Amino acid sequence: MTNTSYPASYYAASANPAPSRPALQDDVETDVCVIGAGYTGLSSALFLLENGFKVTVLEAAKVGFGASGRNGGQIVNSYSRDIDVIERSVGPQQAQLLGNMAFEGGRIIRERVAKYQIQCDLKDGGVFAALTAKQMGHLESQKRLWERFGHTQLELLDQRRIREVVACDEYVGGMLDMSGGHIHPLNLALGEAAAVESLGGVIYEQSPAVRIERGASPVVHTPQGKVRAKFIIVAGNAYLGNLVPELAAKSMPCGTQVIATEPLGDELARSLLPQDYCVEDCNYLLDYYRLTGDKRLIFGGGVVYGARDPANIEAIIRPKMLKAFPQLKDVKIDYAWTGNFLLTLSRLPQVGRLGDNIYYSQGCSGHGVTYTHLAGKVLAEALRGQAERFDAFADLPHYPFPGGQLLRTPFAALGAWYYGLRDKLGF
Ligand SMILES: Cc1cc2nc3c(=O)[nH]c(=O)nc-3n(C[C@H](O)[C@H](O)[C@H](O)COP(=O)(O)OP(=O)(O)OC[C@H]3O[C@@H](n4cnc5c(N)ncnc54)[C@H](O)[C@@H]3O)c2cc1C
Repeated sequence: MTNTSYPASYYAASANPAPSRPALQDDVETDVCVIGAGYTGLSSALFLLENGFKVTVLEAAKVGFGASGRNGGQIVNSYSRDIDVIERSVGPQQAQLLGNMAFEGGRIIRERVAKYQIQCDLKDGGVFAALTAKQMGHLESQKRLWERFGHTQLELLDQRRIREVVACDEYVGGMLDMSGGHIHPLNLALGEAAAVESLGGVIYEQSPAVRIERGASPVVHTPQGKVRAKFIIVAGNAYLGNLVPELAAKSMPCGTQVIATEPLGDELARSLLPQDYCVEDCNYLLDYYRLTGDKRLIFGGGVVYGARDPANIEAIIRPKMLKAFPQLKDVKIDYAWTGNFLLTLSRLPQVGRLGDNIYYSQGCSGHGVTYTHLAGKVLAEALRGQAERFDAFADLPHYPFPGGQLLRTPFAALGAWYYGLRDKLGF
């Protein structure tokens, strides 16, 4: 069997020490078999273990191999489509429940980091940066909307004030969310995996689930072993492939790229982001960036529909970075990598159950660091028989991509081209 390792990212190069976990080579029995050791799988496993379940996690590669170990590290509240869009498409009670949960994921991360003493460079404060007056108007209504759901750690920034928190002249204003922030994403996943094991959970790496035998006592098969479980949680997201065809049919893996500069030194780093907040702009195809613990700039942006790996990532992302920060023209790029997130047509997560005992959550469509932590809690609640919050997600409509698996990529790319044009033209 081939051994799948991390991509050559800054995160892999600066990961905290972690044990190498064995591949499954036996037949084992458990209460819950979790497929995938990203945030969705690890968060589910942790909540279940804290509630007395026996949990076995199968990971095809290594803990945090997927998006959870490669992302921009930005703790962003709410969902990829905001609560007002949800309110318009579902009833008031469901919208209220989903709105109340929209800020919980960030709290869960902070609780986990504190409880299990996870070293992941957690910093508070995230900025949404507006490039146009229209985007600023949107942030003003977003603030009012979020405040309606009890989220009050928000400050609108005018043009002068945003220049105090980010040395970029492109922005007309923005919004600071002090319950946003940033983390070293792979170290968060590794810390959560250690927490799972500290509670008696077992994680097998290099152990892809290759077949699920459905039924009253489902069995998950790997190349060299199997897991008999009462429940299965499918948490493979954009890396799941066709293991569960119903899930593949209504989602689309997309690639997005990130670069990390060489260390900038304290002075240059502080001149860019004096308070060390993370930043994302308000474009549909957005750019996002932040400093690392050792003062590199991590910069991400760009989307490849259908998740083909681009040949030269630096050539795509560096010009975006220099547009925001021309002062970095002589700075070297030390790392460049790509990762896949899962897009849904509504851009809302898909949560549900197949038969009586196979649960899933997937497709948060971009912003997933907070949502996936919440998803783990909501899935664990459902397995404990408290399904009200699970149902609020599960009742959101799921749509197949037009054109099926063959044509979904060109259709989505066309949609993104349209939104990209809107970003460029500022309407
Ligand atoms: C480059 C990039 C930047 C991003 N930046 C941000 C950001 O700054 N802020 C934010 O909020 N969101 C961001 N996101 C999105 C966010 O990272 C994801 O939404 C989130 O990490 C998804 O977590 P997950 O656990 O659902 O999936 P993943 O982290 O992808 O984990 C799925 C895991 O399942 C495993 N797996 C798949 N199939 C199988 C199988 N058959 N058997 C066993 N294991 C399997 C995979 O190997 C993988 O480890 C970004 C995503 C990418 C790709």
